[in-house]
Amino acid sequence: MADAITDPRELLAALDLGSGWLTGAQEAAALFPLRVPRPYLARMRRGCPDDPLLRQVLPLREEGRAAAGFGPDPVGDRRALVAAGILQKYEGRALATATGACAIHCRYCFRRHFPYGEANAARDGWRAVWEHLDKNPAIAELILSGGDPLSLGEDRLAQLLPGLAARPQVLRLRIHTRLPIVIPARIDDAFMDWIHAARLQVVMVLHVNHAQEIDQPVRAAMSRLRAAGVTLLNQAVLLAGVNDSADAQVTLCETLFGAGILPYYLHVLDHVAGAAHFAVAPGPMMALFREMEARLPGYLVPKLVQEQAGAPAKVRLGAGALAPNPVE
Ligand SMILES: *Cc1c(COP(=O)(O)O)cnc(C)c1O
Ligand code: SF4
Repeated sequence: MADAITDPRELLAALDLGSGWLTGAQEAAALFPLRVPRPYLARMRRGCPDDPLLRQVLPLREEGRAAAGFGPDPVGDRRALVAAGILQKYEGRALATATGACAIHCRYCFRRHFPYGEANAARDGWRAVWEHLDKNPAIAELILSGGDPLSLGEDRLAQLLPGLAARPQVLRLRIHTRLPIVIPARIDDAFMDWIHAARLQVVMVLHVNHAQEIDQPVRAAMSRLRAAGVTLLNQAVLLAGVNDSADAQVTLCETLFGAGILPYYLHVLDHVAGAAHFAVAPGPMMALFREMEARLPGYLVPKLVQEQAGAPAKVRLGAGALAPNPVE
């Protein structure tokens, strides 16, 4: 992580891109810093400003432009914060944000404005997690999120295990992470030891937006996780200029499955300030999703969802409307 590219000038030079992008990139990086890990950079095509991986990380001048309906907390996270770093929105599962750090900075991220300083569930040996679980015995699943929870070291992660073992109410541990994709070497021996020591079902929800993100080191990391019994799911975000075509989505879903990962969610972009240029209009979005449904086996079609503040679950779009003429 320490080796990541953080200087827009270095990013542009590494990809043989002209300095025409520089001023905009520097302006936008002042709002949300640039961060690109080198193993991820290696999957980008040189000399190609439209590369779908580059588009996810390149700061653009557009980010500074205000857009109607785009704000700092589009999904109501501040309101759902019930204790330090604990978000409780849905029944039966609690989400702990353990760190603000990520290995990569995704320009569309809804957490770019989140107050991580105040919200760290890993503090004091995960005390806020234990207090919350003990007050809420119906919680059967703990979700580690962030930031990226795998930017924590094994020492911090290890502190979770005795507390979880002492609470049989917790059946599943879920980890929302992009780290094994952007730095596959994160899935190392120490991490696998930790997985084996966690005596509960582990679900890992990865974040891949484009098939080009999956290379041989990612496949190898996924194989190790699968061999240890970890369930692998993916959430993607529908992003203009990155993956807003049916071909890109179909290839993504098939490539994910080839790497042992099932598509779980395709998220509608959260309306976070600075990300309006990634939005896909509702009409083209539904047409794209219909085409995915028509071209993919059912088990490879992710649920198209939108997060709505205050809703009891992620809100599904386009469900059940496929048949133009319902059978009588
Ligand atoms: C998205 C989310 C979850 C997980 O929802 P699932 O539909 O179970 O994947 C849990 N807690 C919070 C706060 C969330 O935003
Ligand atoms: S939380 Fe996820 S989407 Fe947001 S910047 Fe970190 S890795 Fe990217």
